[in-house]
Amino acid sequence: MHQYIDGEYRDGHGETGRRIDPTTGEVAETIRYADPTDVDAAVAAAKRAFPAWSALSPAERADAMLRLATELDRRSGELAALETAQTGKSLRMSTEFDVPGTIDNTAFFAGAARQLQGLAAGEYAGRATSMIRREPIGVVGSISPWNYPLQMAGWKILPAIAAGNTIVLKPSELTPGTSLIFAEAATAAGLPAGVVNIVTGTGQVAGEHLVRHPDVAMTSFTGSTAVGRRIMEMASATAKRVHLELGGKAPFVVFDDADLEAAARGAVGGSIINGGQDCTAATRAYVHHSLFEAFTERVAELMEQVVVGTPTEEATDLGSLITHAHRDKVAGFVDRARAAGARVLTGGEAPNGTLAAGAFYRPTLVVDAAQDSEIVQQEVFGPVLVALPFDTDDDAIALANDTPYGLAASAWTNDLNRSLRASEEIQAGCVWINDHITITSEMPHGGYKASGFGKDMSPYSLEEYTNVKHVLASREPGPGRPWHDTVFR
Ligand code: NAD
Repeated sequence: MHQYIDGEYRDGHGETGRRIDPTTGEVAETIRYADPTDVDAAVAAAKRAFPAWSALSPAERADAMLRLATELDRRSGELAALETAQTGKSLRMSTEFDVPGTIDNTAFFAGAARQLQGLAAGEYAGRATSMIRREPIGVVGSISPWNYPLQMAGWKILPAIAAGNTIVLKPSELTPGTSLIFAEAATAAGLPAGVVNIVTGTGQVAGEHLVRHPDVAMTSFTGSTAVGRRIMEMASATAKRVHLELGGKAPFVVFDDADLEAAARGAVGGSIINGGQDCTAATRAYVHHSLFEAFTERVAELMEQVVVGTPTEEATDLGSLITHAHRDKVAGFVDRARAAGARVLTGGEAPNGTLAAGAFYRPTLVVDAAQDSEIVQQEVFGPVLVALPFDTDDDAIALANDTPYGLAASAWTNDLNRSLRASEEIQAGCVWINDHITITSEMPHGGYKASGFGKDMSPYSLEEYTNVKHVLASREPGPGRPWHDTVFR
C-alpha cells in the first residue's frame, strides 16, 4: 500500500504504475496511485488534525519530533537500503549521507520549533504594545522529487510541522518508499493521525489536485523549473502561498591562485555526487586559462578512479542514475555536444559488462563546448562536468551568471578580495568559497532567478511556514493616534 493517510496505510484508487529497479531494468513493485479522492481524504485528515496540532506548545511539538528522530534512527538500516533500492544510489551514500542527514534535520527542527521569533513592530509611547505572533498557515501541500527522496521529504515535512502546520506530501511516483516510512515513523513516535500524510501518485493527477485544492493553504515544491512555473500558475486560482525550489546549473569558478588539487577534488566530488542528480551539483567549471590544462587533466584522472558499480557493493562510489530514460537523456546531451565539436576527455558512455542492463553512466568531463550551447545552459542532471577557460575576473563572474539559474555556485581562491567579490556578485542563493555541496541543517538553501524562491533548512525555512500577525494592544485608545486627529477635530 502506497498511501499513508490519517495515520494508516491505504490503497490508492487511481491507475496502477510500476517501479523499475534502475540497476537491472526489472519491475521492482507495482503501485496503485492516488486519484483526486485519495488526495481529498489526505487533505481532510490534515485539516482535522490541524487545530489540535497547532494548539500544542512548541515544547510539546518538539518532544514528538525528537521521538520521531529516535524512531528514524531505529529504522536507519531499513531506510538506507530502501533509499538505495529505489534510486540506484550507492548504499554508502544512503547510509552515510541521506539517512543521518534526515535524522539530524529532525532533531534540528525539533529545537527550532521553540525558537520562532518576531521583531517588535514599534511602540506607542507607553500607551500601546506592539507584538508579533507567528502563526502556522494550515494545511501545507508539498511535492518532492526523486533525487534525494528521504531528505526532500524531511526538508518539506519538518519545518512545516515544527511551526504547527499539518501536511500532505506527494513524493515522486518513482521513489515513494522512504517518505511512507517517514510518515509511519511519525505515527510510531506519537504524532497524531493526520499531521503527516503521504499521497503517492503522478504529478498530473495527484500533484495538480493537491496544488489546486481549496483547503490547502500553501504549496511547497521542489523539482524542475518547468513544473514550478506551472504550479505557480495553478496556485494563483486560490491565491495560496508558494515556495519553489527549482533547477540549478551551478558554476564552479577556479581563479589562478586556487589550490589546484583541492579544486580538482572539489569539482569531481561536486559534479558526480548522487550521480550529478543534485540541483546544486557543480556543472560548469570556469577555470583561469593558466590552470586550465592542469585542472582538466587532474579532474579526468580523478574521475577515472571513481568506481561505478552495483550500489550495494562496498567498493562502489557511484551507483546508477534514476531511470534508463534519464540515463539516455544525460547521454543525449553529451552526444550532441560531441557532435557540435566538444571533446569528451573522460567518460561519455555507459559502462559495459555486468552493468550494461542498468541505468549507469560514467563520470564525464567535457571541454570545448560553447558557452551558449545546451550542455552549458541547461540542466543535464547527470555526472557530467563541462570545463571552460576564462581570462579575467570580470569574465569569470559574467560567465558564472550567464544562465537562467541561480541556486548555488562556488569560487576557488585564496584571495580575500576575490572571495568577497564572488560572494557578492554571483547571483545565487549560496556561494561556497573553496568548497562545494556542503550543507547542514543550520544553513539556508534556496534559489535566485529561475531556481525559485523561499528557503529550505535553517530557521529561515521555519519562517516560510508561518504567517506573521501583528497585534497592537492599546491601553488608552483615542486622542494621540494618527487616525484620531485626522478624523476628529
Ligand atoms: P519534476 O519537476 O519532474 O518532478 C518533481 C515533482 O513534481 C514530482 O513529485 C512530480 O510527480 C511532480 N509533478 C510533475 N508534474 C507536475 C504537475 N503538473 N503538477 C504538480 N506536480 C507535478 O522534477 P524531478 O525530475 O522529479 O526532479 C529533478 C528536478 O528537481 C531538477 O530540475 C532539480 O534541479 C530539481 N531539484 C531542485 C532542488 C532544489 O532544492 N532547488 C532539489 C532537488 C531537485
